[in-house]
Amino acid sequence: MPETCPHGFDESLLSGAIDRELIQSTAQKVRIHLEDCAHCRAQYDELTKLREVAMSTTIHQPPDDQWRETPRTGFSKAGRTMGWLLATLWLLIITAYGLYQGWQNTDGAFEKFLGFGGFGAVALLFASVALDRWRTAKTDPYREIEK
Ligand SMILES: [Zn+2]
Repeated sequence: MPETCPHGFDESLLSGAIDRELIQSTAQKVRIHLEDCAHCRAQYDELTKLREVAMSTTIHQPPDDQWRETPRTGFSKAGRTMGWLLATLWLLIITAYGLYQGWQNTDGAFEKFLGFGGFGAVALLFASVALDRWRTAKTDPYREIEK
């Protein structure tokens, strides 16, 4: 199957047709083209499938209450952001302290590697989660709608 339509058909029209965004004459054009172009038919089926998967994931995805509950007030939102920042800061300090202590008290490259690897991994994981949360809190479109 070639990457693009062998007839040079504008494939963005396919997703437009699926989303029913096209004016009648264009939609008609897509339908006619689909009848005699196997490539675009395959593309169309693929897009339809993807669209269905996307829909069902949005609908059936269990709400991630643990993290995504919508803050009721500006205060709780700010509080949560602060909480994440403080938690991150706390972890960084603890980690730095632990690393320092570990470095002082262990000899042997292997022990050092063990201690540092563990601390580093936990710190990285935590930091990345915190960062994600923070970004989500700032950009989550649902939050905007709630207001
Ligand atoms: Zn085509």
